[in-house]
Amino acid sequence: MSVMAEPELNSLRQLPAVATVLATAEAAALLERHGRVATTDAIRQAIDSAREALRATPAAVPGAIEIAQRAGELLEAHAPGLRPLFNLTGTVLHTNLGRAVLAEAAIEAAVAAMRHAVALEYDLADGSRGERDDHLRSLLCALTGAEDATVVNNNAAAVLLCLNTFALGREAVVSRGELIEIGGAFRLPDIMARAGARMVEVGTTNRTHPADYQDALNERTGLVLKVHTSNYRIQGFTAEVGARELAVIAAAAGVPLLNDLGSGSLVDLSRYGLAKEPTVREAVAEGARLVTFSGDKLLGGPQAGFIVGDRALIEQINRNPLKRALRVDKLRLAAIEATLNLYRDPDRLAERLPTLRFLARGKANIEAQARRLQPAVAERFGGAFVVEVGDCLSQVGSGALPLDTLASAALMIRARGSQGALEPLAAALRVLPRPIIGRIADGALRLDLRCLAEADEAPLLESLARLNVDGLTAHAP
Ligand SMILES: *Cc1c(COP(=O)(O)O)cnc(C)c1O
Repeated sequence: MSVMAEPELNSLRQLPAVATVLATAEAAALLERHGRVATTDAIRQAIDSAREALRATPAAVPGAIEIAQRAGELLEAHAPGLRPLFNLTGTVLHTNLGRAVLAEAAIEAAVAAMRHAVALEYDLADGSRGERDDHLRSLLCALTGAEDATVVNNNAAAVLLCLNTFALGREAVVSRGELIEIGGAFRLPDIMARAGARMVEVGTTNRTHPADYQDALNERTGLVLKVHTSNYRIQGFTAEVGARELAVIAAAAGVPLLNDLGSGSLVDLSRYGLAKEPTVREAVAEGARLVTFSGDKLLGGPQAGFIVGDRALIEQINRNPLKRALRVDKLRLAAIEATLNLYRDPDRLAERLPTLRFLARGKANIEAQARRLQPAVAERFGGAFVVEVGDCLSQVGSGALPLDTLASAALMIRARGSQGALEPLAAALRVLPRPIIGRIADGALRLDLRCLAEADEAPLLESLARLNVDGLTAHAP
């Protein structure tokens, strides 16, 4: 321990005590707002920081009011990590930004389920115990043509549960061309191992033939797996066995075919000017006895995994104890039910489902919005940055339609005279009370407006008004 000089020791003694700070009017306001425990902690933290600062450099000793103010700043700095932001990345289903934004009907249903008791596992007709999946079963069957359906936490869980139910201690046959990894920790070989299935790879990376599957099938086989290569394409000299043919091969061997669609759409997207992604109804009609897909990708709902298919198989899945561990809560069930209900009226689906509304937006519409906002945005950025309307390409995201881009328009922000200021600018936009997330490319910070709802235009300008541009240009080389 270093010996302190006399004047420094004196100044440390002059720091106010916690009780003194708590007695100020400033602290009273903090107590009212944040409560006793958090306020006292923040005051202690403010005093500790002041003590450290004084030890480092002698300076004026802050009084009780100033400490209370600093404590207030500390308390306000704890903005919730999951606060709303503006997704102007151009990726509609951005996994890191929470994928699908929910429809109003789904939001209302989830809020009601939070606020009130609901008949989650209760049969209102006869007052007996009910099944939580019953709420969705008939809707899912009507929308997909399947005999039965069940729902779990996400599509990774759906695949895990199917594998564990039908291939535990048995073999699961899959093409080498379909051994996918999906963003981060979902790797098919790992999921198969954790499900207790022995993976039997057939074919090669680029070509798999019917005989490859037939040769691998035997009395130890529990399941044949087909996986939609959702986030990549193998092009060139390729061959794969289609689901229809594979369903026949699996049936002849007496084992179910599971077709994991990943995104899996409930409607034909070409109707909205998008490239075609296989629909769940088609996958069911092709003969797969089980089909799995996500709730928060193209479907546009909350995170969930659906398994649809043969009644006998779904019943077996529901009896697996893992199902209990992977089940979905009432909030999400309410939101899923409301989202699925929107699909019963396809004519108004694009109006009501934000995911589809964003995906279906034409470039002209986005560009008009960009032109409308450009003058106000340019003004917010002052003279240090140039703001122009430019062309860009949006993506669907979440591995859906990986090669398809959507023509879009963006506000392109360039530093006047230097490009070095873009990183600090992007960082400053990320820490706004409502963060703005764009993308830096070709010397510009690009704000793709595809996912900016009209109702969010004014909040975006309000957010930008809080940006301190002066601090940013100082960093420019
Ligand atoms: C996205 C995806 C998954 C995982 O789905 P989550 O809902 O993210 O758990 C599984 N398989 C395929 C083919 C996918 O595209």
